[in-house]
Amino acid sequence: MIVSSRIRELRRQVADLHAELPRNELVVWTAGNVSARVPGEDLLVIKPSGVRYDEITPENMVVTDLDGNLVEGELSPSSDTAAHAYVYKHMPEVGGVVHTHSTYATAWSARGEAIPCVLTMIADEFGGEIPVGPFALIGDDSIGRGIVETLRGHRSPAVLMRNHGVFTIGRDARAAVKAAVMCEDVARTVHISRQLGEPLPIGQADVDSLYARYQHAYGQEPAK
Ligand SMILES: [Zn+2]
Repeated sequence: MIVSSRIRELRRQVADLHAELPRNELVVWTAGNVSARVPGEDLLVIKPSGVRYDEITPENMVVTDLDGNLVEGELSPSSDTAAHAYVYKHMPEVGGVVHTHSTYATAWSARGEAIPCVLTMIADEFGGEIPVGPFALIGDDSIGRGIVETLRGHRSPAVLMRNHGVFTIGRDARAAVKAAVMCEDVARTVHISRQLGEPLPIGQADVDSLYARYQHAYGQEPAK
């Protein structure tokens, strides 16, 4: 009973958060998804495959186990479910995962280039550069493995998967969506900055202090 009311609440949250993807111009058509871990259970809530953003409702969200097997829902889960599930299985601190092909961040991933820490906002949210993960094909564990190998022990909640797009993680789904929005924003700004010259790096001590301050001042704030 407690689990089912928790799932009902997460279905609503995850459905609502999907609206942020087109609102922030992170996605086209149906490519992009948000998921949330069901706390205390080996379950996650995710978007069904091939459903347009304006057709998403709490009711058509699907629930899977951490192997990506459908547990609850009428539609099949997103084709990216295996990657999300792998992250939850191997990073117990993660409560939310987002995947997009947002344009500027994905352009960096196409070059296999990390986004350097040249803005205070990057230091705040990402604690340093936004790293690149390996090239991986969809269909098995390799995307999930690449995300976990890159982000485990890293401050950044975002990884640019080479030639593919962005995966972000957070303590909950909302934090992962925020990281996806911020990742695209800084990818665009640093790209524009580079058109006119070489952006100036921020010293490591300043990066550390910005990160520590931001994580303490804002990191503990309850989700609004
Ligand atoms: Zn993708």
